[in-house]
Amino acid sequence: MVASAVNILHADLDSFYASVEQLLDPALRGRAIAVGASARGGVVLACSYEAKAHGVSGGMPGWRAAQLCPDLLFVKGSFHRYQEFGDRVISVMEDFTPAIQRISIDEAFLDVSGAVHLFGPPEVIAARLRARVRGELGLPISVGVARTKSLAKIASQVAKPDGLVVVPAEREREFLDPLPVRLMWGVGPVTASRLAERGIRTIGQLAATPRSAVERLLGNAVGEKLSRLAVNEDPRRVSGSARGRSVGAQSALGRRAASREAVREVLGQLAERVATRMRAGGLAGRTLTVRVRLGDMRSLTRSHTFPGPLSTTLTITETAERLAWDAIGEPGTEISLLGISLSNLEQQPFLQLEFPLFGDNPESPGSASGASRLALDASMDAARSRFGKAAVGYLPAQLRHGHGTPDAFRELAEREL
Ligand SMILES: [Mg+2]
Repeated sequence: MVASAVNILHADLDSFYASVEQLLDPALRGRAIAVGASARGGVVLACSYEAKAHGVSGGMPGWRAAQLCPDLLFVKGSFHRYQEFGDRVISVMEDFTPAIQRISIDEAFLDVSGAVHLFGPPEVIAARLRARVRGELGLPISVGVARTKSLAKIASQVAKPDGLVVVPAEREREFLDPLPVRLMWGVGPVTASRLAERGIRTIGQLAATPRSAVERLLGNAVGEKLSRLAVNEDPRRVSGSARGRSVGAQSALGRRAASREAVREVLGQLAERVATRMRAGGLAGRTLTVRVRLGDMRSLTRSHTFPGPLSTTLTITETAERLAWDAIGEPGTEISLLGISLSNLEQQPFLQLEFPLFGDNPESPGSASGASRLALDASMDAARSRFGKAAVGYLPAQLRHGHGTPDAFRELAEREL
């Protein structure tokens, strides 16, 4: 099997609901808060790190949380705001790659293999993504970078809170061996305690157990799956649902009289940006839409759907020109904006490598408690110190800590049409 590159990111917002509440209400910052329960009842959906420090965790009854942390503030959830912030984080991700698979309101996988020639190595992309989410939205997000989805997700858990962990291909065993099995995708409390009864507590111990024994213990399907994941055998690709999305770019021109040359030049630049983003994600689109805003602010759109997908700059430019003039009419007409977008997206055939090993319906690592939590924290700290800060130590300071956005990125923050 050919070793693939370390180019999968798993990005996971930290204590998402609680972070949004603290962002919206400064009075809550630095406080222990819980969302979705009260001291009398209900279940804690999320809590701030200040609350976690007292042992409060998601899934815990409100009365228990109040017992553990007498200063705990219970906050009513504002779910439409969570959805809105989650969507905004996804659109920041879309500036780096269209190959995004969102798996819940606050986490997503990104395949950045096509984006490295534009933005730098995966760990730099991860650092920039973190800096932008922090700088533009004010939210902490942890990112794991690895060769497989399973490992990237484990790495992002180790990176929390507010960290970045990169696992180089040659150090996967060293990273995984000491970590608790609970961090694996699909290992919940029941599976973990079954494994613990046989003395299997770490991923390294699981990897060293014969597959047949694991299958006898957990059943064939689950046993095989976990045995494979323990040795980081995970062929699942990042599968964004490309359909229904679009990749677009537009350019405000100020009011000016349209000339053949100027329209061709602007559309050529827009086509280049769109085509580059499409290629970065291994995508091609079948429907091209051109938007023209006239001098009197009227907006016109023209679309054309091709029998097959296209992603080359030249074809996009030529078709866009024809559509644009259909909307503009004659040279000399005043225009103030030109935009293009490609939709009806599909994966380019050479990237169509989907090997679903099992469904994407993970049982995420739940809350551990007591001694196992301490053990888990200790092994995660050890992994973090080896693979986290050290792995990103060479990044420019502005990427590691920066709250500002480099100018180059503002240009890339194109609005979808
Ligand atoms: Mg999260």
